[in-house]
Amino acid sequence: MTTQTSKVAIVTGASRGIGAVIAQQLAAQGFAVAINYANSATEASALVVKLRQAGHRAIAIKADVANADDVRRLFDETETQLGKVDVLVNNAGILKVLPLAQHSDELFDQNFNIHARGTFNTLREAATRLNSGGRIINFSSSTVGMNLPGYAVYIASKAAVESLTQVFAKEMRGRNITVNAVAPGPVATDLFLHGKSEEQIQTFAKMPPLERLAQPEDISRVVSFLVGPDSAWVNGQILRINGGLV
Ligand code: NAP
Repeated sequence: MTTQTSKVAIVTGASRGIGAVIAQQLAAQGFAVAINYANSATEASALVVKLRQAGHRAIAIKADVANADDVRRLFDETETQLGKVDVLVNNAGILKVLPLAQHSDELFDQNFNIHARGTFNTLREAATRLNSGGRIINFSSSTVGMNLPGYAVYIASKAAVESLTQVFAKEMRGRNITVNAVAPGPVATDLFLHGKSEEQIQTFAKMPPLERLAQPEDISRVVSFLVGPDSAWVNGQILRINGGLV
């Protein structure tokens, strides 16, 4: 077991997109960061190198959040290499836009396994393993409030994340741990951009009154607030971060 010199954060799905920016932001805030990924080993390693070169403590851990054994190992390896965990950011996610009638059983399972079961797996470990004073941030989506056609299964799996968040916050009574979720609107990452025409992207960009897509930093700054001292009294909440979209 390593000697703990700084607070420790696990960010799931941190090889790319919003998670990678959150990992960098948390490192800049002084956290030692475990960068979880499922497939993108090259990107995760490059991020570790970048953070270490900047003087931060960071490791990359391959683990499928949908798999309970992988998640247990994710916590084990983080504890061994960085120390006991203070912050868990449940950011890993996927998106396939398709009418409900065209969803395969596999795609339904994939959505629920990564979003609902993945969040469940990490929360179950966090319940006993997070340090007192810890913070948990789950990832929902503003689509839950929009009920967009093509998003039924994605939205349903993210609605489950919101329910897990609100109940788990109450179950952490006595542990001094806050549990919140963020629910972004469209963010300019692969997850949103992939498979959309320029026209579709512009339509989404014009939807919020602020008339643009979010950048990952718009989301990571809110996560920074939620892990920091100024949010101590924010608990059990779903924060929609979407420029006023819904
Ligand atoms: P992204 O750019 O596609 O990145 C997704 C990340 O999740 C990758 O690092 C990926 O790792 C990881 N991941 C996927 N499946 C995983 C699994 N089973 N186990 C561990 N990691 C896994 O997506 P993003 O836009 O940053 O999205 C991040 C979160 O924000 C998601 O929960 C998403 O639902 C939510 N969100 C995004 C938007 C948006 O418009 N972008 C809007 C609302 C909510 P690998 O590459 O290694 O597979």
